[in-house]
Amino acid sequence: MFASVVIDQDAKALDKVFDYVVPANLDVKTGMRVFVPFGGRTLQGFVVDLKNTSSVPANKLKSIYSCVENFSVIKPEMTKLMKFMCDEFHLRQTSVLRLFLPSEIREGKVRELFEKYVSLGNNIDKNALKRAKKQLEIVEFLEKEQKVKLSVLKEKFGDSAVKALIEKKFLNIEKEQVHRSPYVCSRPDKKVVLSRQQNLALESIKENGTYLLHGVTGSGKTEVYMHLISRALENQKTALMLVPEISLTPQVMSTFRARFGDKIALLHSNLSAGERFDEWRRIFAGQAKVVVGARSAIFAPVENVGIIIVDEEHEQSYVSESNPRYDALTVAAQRAKYNSCPLVLGSATPSVDDYQKAVDGEIKLVEMPDRANGKPLPRIQIIDMMNEIRTGNSTVFSTQLISDLAKVINEKKQAMIFINRRGYSSFMMCRECGYLAICKDCDVSLVYHREDNRLKCHYCGKQYKVLDKCPKCGSDKIKQGAVGTEKIVSELHSIFPDVKILRMDNDTVSKKGSHQKILEEFASTRPSILVGTQMIAKGHDFEDVVLVGIVDADQSLYRSDYRSTERCFQLITQVSGRAGRSQFEGKVDLQTYSPKHYVYKFAANYDYKGFFKKEANIRKTAQFPPFSKIIRILFSHYDENVVKDELKTCYNRLLKVREKYFDDIIYMDAMKSPIKKIKNSFRYQVIIRLKKGKKQIEDEIFDCTLQAPKSSVFFEVNPENMS
Ligand code: ADP
Ligand code: ZN
Ligand code: ZN
Repeated sequence: MFASVVIDQDAKALDKVFDYVVPANLDVKTGMRVFVPFGGRTLQGFVVDLKNTSSVPANKLKSIYSCVENFSVIKPEMTKLMKFMCDEFHLRQTSVLRLFLPSEIREGKVRELFEKYVSLGNNIDKNALKRAKKQLEIVEFLEKEQKVKLSVLKEKFGDSAVKALIEKKFLNIEKEQVHRSPYVCSRPDKKVVLSRQQNLALESIKENGTYLLHGVTGSGKTEVYMHLISRALENQKTALMLVPEISLTPQVMSTFRARFGDKIALLHSNLSAGERFDEWRRIFAGQAKVVVGARSAIFAPVENVGIIIVDEEHEQSYVSESNPRYDALTVAAQRAKYNSCPLVLGSATPSVDDYQKAVDGEIKLVEMPDRANGKPLPRIQIIDMMNEIRTGNSTVFSTQLISDLAKVINEKKQAMIFINRRGYSSFMMCRECGYLAICKDCDVSLVYHREDNRLKCHYCGKQYKVLDKCPKCGSDKIKQGAVGTEKIVSELHSIFPDVKILRMDNDTVSKKGSHQKILEEFASTRPSILVGTQMIAKGHDFEDVVLVGIVDADQSLYRSDYRSTERCFQLITQVSGRAGRSQFEGKVDLQTYSPKHYVYKFAANYDYKGFFKKEANIRKTAQFPPFSKIIRILFSHYDENVVKDELKTCYNRLLKVREKYFDDIIYMDAMKSPIKKIKNSFRYQVIIRLKKGKKQIEDEIFDCTLQAPKSSVFFEVNPENMS
């Protein structure tokens, strides 16, 4: 017997399969990890296939030394998935296999946690303990409690009394595995009667295939998801659900925990190593049948999957921003196909790509146009900030927003203020000579953080001293740029000094548990205002939030990105969806400097279909995705000449591809990236736009990128971020 082995080393040259002899005394199965001899060393590898013959000459074949574990860590479905992902995303086998195994498992550094438990032995002679009062107390305690942790007992009664009882052989001590499960605050399961819309949705999602569940914010998609999951469980199957990392809020997690109890495993980036290890093992062993997690949870080793759900399917976080680059939705579709189960993509604002697929009949559309509570969506008022300036108000808040906030405070309700920028102000600039404070390593402007009185680079984290004088001309007329969360909070403080104002952004939630703490504090204070970035846009369900203020809606609009209008629409809809979720009517104040832009008209009317039509039309005319494919190849290296050289080599090879497929390639050019330098690496790129469909062309383009030995090369199809 021979084994095809992928060596667990992430190197281009090793990205093949190597044949090894399986020794008769080893029980090797596909998916196992093995130790093998390789170039004079012992390396680990994954068995991806077993076969009866090998084309390698017998005298060149070596034998497997031993197995790492005595079971297959990579299940059959995942071996297939690896092959699919390598082809689809141009990835190396090892980097894909590593995605499948959390480092806690792969590196073997984390172990199961065991605790010693104590219970009473059989022959206890209480009389013998008459003079040992403490020991008697322990015995009586154990008679009541039956079984407790040894550590707890020692803490309660002291080491010596416990020890004495152990010596008398009065106690049984057993070692048991403790399951480290992520902390989730408990709350009772809220049972609701499904609405007609929800029932219809459930009725239509039965057969295999992909469904786009388009339901307005508050339409009760979560309840539909949970019923789909219950249905899978009733059919003895498992379920997999992806949510964006930032909407894995304590609220969402406790809702699922309340409904599915021990059957659920949670996977997100805030788990400790031990928690991740235990959750993964529970899934692997089939104990956890429902997996809810962020992007990489799509690789959870569940078997016999009955439903896959992707909530907020339009979220860009489902595509990984760094190598290995993959798109979790494509992976989800592949897993659904393998398991012959439905895939449900849910959103209030589906991506233009996916909605177009529904229009084209490639996937099925299921709609939930009304809120579950029967209440209308909050009214969105567009506020023209140019008009504010004309009438002499140059602050960041319109008069309307301030008076609405005052009303909320007066009624002891709550408001959320959304601003998509953390820090105090986005740049510092000299009014005299135009000098702009930028990061030495990154070619981006620095952000002022008042809390620690520093300028920070949001790309590399480097910190700088604040400018009090211009380093170029010496002037002290320093101007601060567009506002961020910190500044909004401090301005609100000065307007409403007695009101609780909380801030939620990357800076305030970096510590474990702080996210939850902020939300709990907000939930328990009235009146109160929560100021935040994207983080407050999703998943939150606060009954008393009656006002949402969007401070600077244009911010996500004018970017060099073909999806920026779509993003702006999505963001407004998501944020607005936080208001008026209970019996109280909600309102949204949307501040903009370009109130006539079509995105605001559609967003204010919650007219997704109208927006889609307009947007799809524009993209069709301009031949942008989903009506074409954009490939971006990003080269970076600390030596600018190296990047330029290697980019040129690649470009020359690309010219030949363009010649060959002249009719399919709409556009191709090489250039500096919009951000020319990040962390001291120079960035150059090739942008190619090609007609949809032919994967062959994409593959040939990819092959052109392989001769860049020094630069790091990032290959993206329809990139999420073009900067
Ligand atoms: P979505 O995810 O579509 O934005 P949610 O799932 O968060 O909406 O639901 C919004 C609110 O409506 C939640 O508070 C939820 O408990 C409630 N809800 C959902 N379904 C029903 C129902 N059938 N009857 C009453 N309330 C419901
Ligand atoms: Zn100056
Ligand atoms: Zn930097």
